[in-house]
Amino acid sequence: MITVALLSRPGLMDPMQALLARELPGVTVASWPESAARDAELAVCWKPEPGALATMPKLKLIHSIAAGVDNILSDPTVPDVPLCRIVDPDISAAMTEFVLWGTLYFHRDFDRVVSNGRNGVWRRYEQRAAKDRRVGILGLGELGSAAAIRLVELGFAVSAWSRSPKALAGVRTYSGADALDDFLGETEILVSLLPLTASTVGLLNAGRLGRLPKGAALILCSRGEHLATEDLVALLRSGHLRGAVLDVFEHEPLPADHALWREPGVLVTPHMAAIASWQVIAQQVAENARRLLRGETLLNVVDRARGY
Ligand code: NAP
Repeated sequence: MITVALLSRPGLMDPMQALLARELPGVTVASWPESAARDAELAVCWKPEPGALATMPKLKLIHSIAAGVDNILSDPTVPDVPLCRIVDPDISAAMTEFVLWGTLYFHRDFDRVVSNGRNGVWRRYEQRAAKDRRVGILGLGELGSAAAIRLVELGFAVSAWSRSPKALAGVRTYSGADALDDFLGETEILVSLLPLTASTVGLLNAGRLGRLPKGAALILCSRGEHLATEDLVALLRSGHLRGAVLDVFEHEPLPADHALWREPGVLVTPHMAAIASWQVIAQQVAENARRLLRGETLLNVVDRARGY
């Protein structure tokens, strides 16, 4: 049977021990840096210690416990073995809920009404139909396309930007770096669902966010490193941008004394948009372990050259 190593901060992956034992009878599961973990063929990771994977001579497969793999590929010493991620309809559904909530938060003025309510201010705003609200999604992959489909069903004017050309019913699609400015120029509520790669890090800076029309809002569900936070704050304070829902941050958890918690127009959520269950993670890791042992095609393999 196979040996599986768990690499993360201490305790995080404790639930995986019993779940993997149930899924893979006879498996040895060891937590890094136990000595057995160094002999593992399969590494299951969330932000593994840099250099750790490179010291595992029998490694044949690396598995992220998340949809993203930036937490692994940020280590330049990661061995060149297949890298898989979690793709799950429940994650897509959860992300869609979060995106719909964030869209409605701005579209129906809950951001303003909640703020007004703290001061006892009774004020109603002119309502706009969903068809007149332009929602733009950065990234039209598993999560972006699931959210786009539901936004279209609700009647919003939806557009999306991806690396390669895409077609999705009811969605105006843009692709490639040259199309980004046009996409941003027509987006009133911007949703980021990009993977974090060398091409997307720092993408949401003053230049890009400044292309959004005045009064636009941001929903950041991807990674904190996509956003130049100071640029966002400057655009909020100047009145160019209306608000932002931020679910992800360069350093998590966001410290209690961080200014973003108190920045007017910013709503901080604790990286909660879509969280895979341990059961689903264990099932998908186990399925790929069985495929590895049988020499079969692995599921949800990441393209290492693209970085996602
Ligand atoms: P995915 O299926 O790999 O889709 C990624 C999309 O981004 C694709 O449409 C891809 O274009 C596009 N893209 C990548 N690089 C690009 C570039 N340089 N320019 C333009 N478009 C680019 O990823 P996913 O499963 O939807 O997940 C997206 C991200 O969501 C994850 O990487 C993770 O960071 C984040 N996430 C956050 C949470 C949370 O709780 N906040 C939960 C899960 C995931 P192509 O279609 O042309 O390849």
